[in-house]
This record gives sequence, structure tokens and C-alpha cells, in this order.
Amino acid sequence: MATVNGAQLMARSLKQQGVDYMFGIVGFPVQGFAAEAQREGITYIGMRNEQAASYAAHAAGYLTGRPQACLTVSGPGVIHAFAGLANAKQNCWPMILIGGASPVYQNGMGGFQEERQVELAAPYCKYAHGIEHVHRIPYYVNQAVRHSIYGRPGPVYLDFPDDIIRGECEEDEVIDTARVPEPPRTQADPDAVEAALTALESAERPLVVVGKGMAWSRAEDEIREFIERTQLPFLNSPMGKGTMPDDDPLSVGAARSTALREADLVFLMGARLNWIMHYGLPPRFNKDVRIIQLDIEPEEIGANVPAEVALVGDGKAIVGQLNRALDNRQWFYPSETPWRAVLQEKAQANMDAVQPMIDDDSVPTNYYRAFKDIVDWLPHDAIIIGEGANTMDIGRTQMPNRLARHRLDAGTYGTMGVGLGFAVAAAVTNPDKPIVSVQGDSAFGFTGMELETMVRYNLPVKMIVLNNGGIGGGVHPLEEGRTLPPGNLTYGAHYEGMLEALGGKGLYVEDPKDLRAALDEAMAYNGPTLINVPLNPRAGRKPQQFGWLTT
Ligand code: ADP
Ligand code: MG
Repeated sequence: MATVNGAQLMARSLKQQGVDYMFGIVGFPVQGFAAEAQREGITYIGMRNEQAASYAAHAAGYLTGRPQACLTVSGPGVIHAFAGLANAKQNCWPMILIGGASPVYQNGMGGFQEERQVELAAPYCKYAHGIEHVHRIPYYVNQAVRHSIYGRPGPVYLDFPDDIIRGECEEDEVIDTARVPEPPRTQADPDAVEAALTALESAERPLVVVGKGMAWSRAEDEIREFIERTQLPFLNSPMGKGTMPDDDPLSVGAARSTALREADLVFLMGARLNWIMHYGLPPRFNKDVRIIQLDIEPEEIGANVPAEVALVGDGKAIVGQLNRALDNRQWFYPSETPWRAVLQEKAQANMDAVQPMIDDDSVPTNYYRAFKDIVDWLPHDAIIIGEGANTMDIGRTQMPNRLARHRLDAGTYGTMGVGLGFAVAAAVTNPDKPIVSVQGDSAFGFTGMELETMVRYNLPVKMIVLNNGGIGGGVHPLEEGRTLPPGNLTYGAHYEGMLEALGGKGLYVEDPKDLRAALDEAMAYNGPTLINVPLNPRAGRKPQQFGWLTT
């Protein structure tokens, strides 16, 4: 009778469930398992820190639509990867963390790297379980995958002890399970669909907000049809960007604050009224704002602001329902209304306000001038990764996204340091697309060693570091003998030299007039590149009406 071991059965089960990528770091007790996963046809990417590997895994899950895996050693390896679990939970993205664990028969003895991993993972997960028997591995993988993508997506944890990895069972003892089908696309109550359209028709200043839940649900075709037919002004959330193209004439992204504050009705699609959306409350929103809310998670309905209409279910299915219901109505939002005029005027004023910074050729440069050349150069289908406070916020306004799921950033959790892991995931899962990562110097530093990962796998990520020598607002001028400010980093540090040393291509661009040539050179290079652009430490955003995190 043929036998199978735990490592083989785990690899087979993951592959059967559509887990095609595994990001991790090997060591006790998972070394042999990673090799088994490769033999099974899973692409294994060895990274330099579990934190970055866990970031890569959930970005890969979001991009591919199936949960992808992060593999770690026991104890500290698992703890490091909790960063990604927590980030995935907050972003509602799927992933499977597989943590090696000390052997079950040593539990409680103070084993090597023994830790209460399942217990500790649980708060960051939708599902966390230890694997207790070799023959039940396919069962646990099925459970993990299902929990990860059904309902609101999220991370899951499987504890994989040494004795299970090496343990064996007879093939005919194995509990076989079916591949978890794509999540059922649940529809909303048809009365609520009609109520939503009636509410929209009654609004004077309507606004559609498209969140990353819609990007996850692959609703871009339905949303485009809905916006084209209703002619409603819309706004993409930070990672909803591209679900409707940012450069669509109905986008009011350039007048975001005004659109949110003055709308009398907001149709919230797959986005939450959390800090990113200023809780839906004054002064950032109209105190009487009416909300139509579409979400797959019933408990989300009414969070912070009561919803007038609730559309509970899958985004793609529900916008399809709305489009069909529109067939019976001859309604669209008129082309000339005072609301459109207000939004257009504000968008123009905002663009005018930053134009002097875009046109400013002084050395060292500022964010807006740097983004001008980046935007001119950006390929239409680039997956754009952005992080670092100003770099991300200004980049979001300057770099347009035209396709869904082509923007990755610090997200709901506001995590800095996700960038290189996300870039690795984007490059591995989308080898035919340009991957462009624009980071601040601080954000870059969190996982800078992943440059070596990019070189090793020859991932042609185009990195740009906008280097203001500090965290957030840039350096303070140092006086002799003064204590170094907490946010200070080395101004002009040659991060591009790190990549050169590791075997990639680095460029240092001081004068913005040289930036375009450097970008072209980077794009022509077949491998990872890093363009380091020192910024004026005092460069910042255009003045904002509201302070950050204003409630
Ligand atoms: P954003 O940051 O873009 O505003 P959030 O992460 O705050 O987006 O919100 C995304 C929302 O999308 C979550 O509340 C989540 O429950 C929801 N969601 C996830 N998957 C789907 C889906 N298939 N259909 C509809 N909504 C979804
Ligand atoms: Mg900085």
C-alpha cells in the first residue's frame, strides 16, 4: 500500500485548492515541505523577512482571486508573519499563513521555538487551526481556503507541526476533499435594488464611492456600465482606484473633499466608512448625508452612519442587478447640474493649486515635479505600488489608475513597509505587466533587503525612492550639537547603491531634468531598478483644508 507524508499531502492539497504561490523563509521544520511544494508545481519565492513574505502573500491573493500562501518557521517566524495577517484582515484580503510548529509530542516541554501559535494567530484571522492528523490535511486546507474567500475575504492560519510534516499515512486513509468553488455570488433583495435606484433619482448631489471590495469582486465591467448609464459622479477609494478609470470624465477624484462634504447622497460600494472615508461624519461629510450601502458583510451595514438602503451581497452580482433594473427606468443624472459645476470648479482649482509645484525645476526637487515625469512615463497597464506618507498621498492624486487591481498601498491598516513585498507579489503573479513602486525613504527601509529577492528571481520591478531624508515631513535642519530628531534619516543616502551591490541597476537623480532619461533607462533594463531622487526636505503637500485624521 502506498504511503504519503504530511509535506507531500499538504503540497498536493494546496495546489488542488488553487494555491499557486508560496512566499516564505525555510528552516526548521518546513524546509522539506517547501521543496515538496515546488515539486507539486507551486511557485516558491524565498524572501528575507517573514514580514515581507506575509505582505507578498496577501497581495498575491488579492491580485489572483485565490488565497496564496506564506510559509514560516516556528515561533519567531510565525510571529513576524503576523504583520501580514493583521494587514490582510484589515484590508479584507485572503491569504493562508502556514506556520511550522514544534512537534506535538513535545508540547509544553519548552521545545525549540515552541509557541502558542494557533491561539496567537486567531485574533488576526478568520480561521486558525492546528493540523493534528496527516490524513486530515486536505480537510484543513479546504476549510482554510473556504473561510479565506467566502463572505468577506480574510486571512487564515494553519499550524503545521514537525511530526505532522514528517508523519505518514496510507493513501487510502486520506480524507479527500473537493476544490473549493469560487465564492457564490449572492444577490441583494430585489426591493432594495429598486429602493437604491429610487433614492439615487431623488438626490440632488449624488456621489458613488467605489472601494476595493468592488475591485476584489471583479465588478469593473458592471460598474462601468452602471456609471455610463446613470452618468453619476464617482470617486474611487485609494485602492479602489482604477476599478473605474481615474481619467474618466465622470471621476471627481480631483475634488474629493468637496465631493464627500457636499454630497447629499453617497452610494458606498465595497468601501467602509472608516478613517479613510472620515467615518461618513461632519465636518468631512454633510450631517444629513443619505447612504446607500453595498457590502458582502451584513454587520458592516450602518457602521458609523445608518444606511437608508442596504444592498447585502456580492458587488459584481448586485451591480449587475442594478443594471438590469435600470432597463425599466429612463433615468440618468443630468449632464448639467449645479452639483457638477461645483465639482468641476473645485477640481480645476485643485489642479491649478499644484501647477506651480509641477512646473518648479529647482534642485533638489519636490514631489509634484517628480511625479510629473513619472506620470508621463507610466505605462497604462502598470501595477502601481505606493507608500510613505507624502509619497503615497501625493502619488495617489497624481498617478492615474486605469485598470482595476492595479494599485497597492498602505491600505486600511496604514502599514508602512508593505511596498517591496507587494512589488514582489505583483511581479511574480503578473510577469507581463510593468511593476512600478514609488516609496518614501522611510517606507523603503522597512524591508529594503527584499532587493536581494528581486535580484535573485530577476523581477523587473521599477522602484523610485522619493528621498526626503526622514519620516513624514522631512528633516529638520541640524544645528551643531543638537539631538537628532526622531524622524530623521540620512539625507541623500544612496539606496540605489544597495541594489547595485546586489546585482540590480541603481540610478541617483538630483536634477529633475534628468529624471525622465533615468526612468526610460530603468524601463529598458531587464531586471530590478531603483531610482533614488533626493527631494527638498521641506517639500510637502499642497495646503489641505482639513488636518489629517480630522473627524
Ligand atoms: P476601501 O479601503 O477601498 O474603502 P474597505 O476595505 O474599507 O475599502 O472596504 C471594502 C469592503 O468591501 C469591506 O467592507 C468588505 O466587506 C467588502 N467586500 C469584500 N468583498 C466583497 C464582495 N465580493 N462584494 C461586495 N463587497 C465586498
Ligand atoms: Mg521620507
